[in-house]
Amino acid sequence: MRYSETSERSAELLRLAIAQMGRHAAACNPITYTVWYEYVAGINEALRRDVEHLTQGGRRLDDEQVSELFDRHVVEITVERAREITGQLNRAIGYVTESTEAAGGRIRQYGSRLNAVDHHLLKPDMSVQDLRGHVESVARGTREMQDVLEGLHQRLVATREEVDRLKAELAQAREEVLIDALTGLCNRRGFDQRMESLTHLDGAACLIIVDVDRFKQVNDSFGHVFGDRVLRAVADTLRHLVKGRDVVARFGGEEFAVLLPETTLAGGRAVAEQIRAQVERVRIRRTGSDQPVGNITVSAGVAQRSGAESAINLIQRADAALYAAKANGRNCVTVAA
Ligand code: GH3
Ligand code: MG
Ligand code: MG
Repeated sequence: MRYSETSERSAELLRLAIAQMGRHAAACNPITYTVWYEYVAGINEALRRDVEHLTQGGRRLDDEQVSELFDRHVVEITVERAREITGQLNRAIGYVTESTEAAGGRIRQYGSRLNAVDHHLLKPDMSVQDLRGHVESVARGTREMQDVLEGLHQRLVATREEVDRLKAELAQAREEVLIDALTGLCNRRGFDQRMESLTHLDGAACLIIVDVDRFKQVNDSFGHVFGDRVLRAVADTLRHLVKGRDVVARFGGEEFAVLLPETTLAGGRAVAEQIRAQVERVRIRRTGSDQPVGNITVSAGVAQRSGAESAINLIQRADAALYAAKANGRNCVTVAA
């Protein structure tokens, strides 16, 4: 497990982490908490060095810096874990190879013994007693062989189970690296990977970039915890609206990306419009208040991939369309030229 602190120690670390979160400018979301937790727990040396460097002279860390620290030092440890599991897999495979080689040696010995008996049987003057002795020796050898093969079989089954378990763990560790902790959507890294595989495909694809309007004000008016709730609600809306091969990702702070393979520009615009209209209807409850908060809106930019256009170019065009939507007064969709 990644954390082994007792509940008392982790409660103390929670207090220390919160004190750090209060001292810095970044939002108090789970990513920030993880960064500070690992920092105050003293369990992540590289993270500690970077934090110390960045906060020299009492500088305060902002969202971008904390998010970068998370990507560099927390997510990378998950990659470390993947490496560890790969090492264990290799050891399991090495064990099977050794067992198979040992069994191979025993089988060769048995073969030589059979050859020797075969040779004796050709002698015309062999007594019944000698013959019995040879038959018994062959029977003994056969039983030993059965034991060797049975042992090998059991080891193979056990190793197979171990390899399956390690493979599942590895798949999970790989997955975690690609998922955004706050919303459960693909993170930027996961999105880039999907985008990369898309560029090998032919066929039209649309990219929508969605950005929450005046989100800073939402945080300022209702607090970051509420802001995080808004981000989760927008993420849920996106998740429900898109389907199949579509990819939904948290692109950055309050920005999301939706990738729609084999979709025309008109289709992309329709999905973006649905997203915009659906988010407008979302109502979010504040802790300790019966009055749900509404008026959460998003703007969106849509671009269709043309020919063999690079991922970067497509993102830039969708981003420019989003910028135009903001300039048009927000809560609207703009399509890239
Ligand atoms: P615009 O309509 O032009 O997009 O205005 P905006 O206020 O949404 O844009 P701006 O980029 O000025 O502010 C984005 C804010 O989003 C600032 C940042 O603190 C906040 N933010 C980024 N990530 C998170 C997060 O994970 N949780 C919370 N609560 N806020 C976040
Ligand atoms: Mg915004
Ligand atoms: Mg933004």
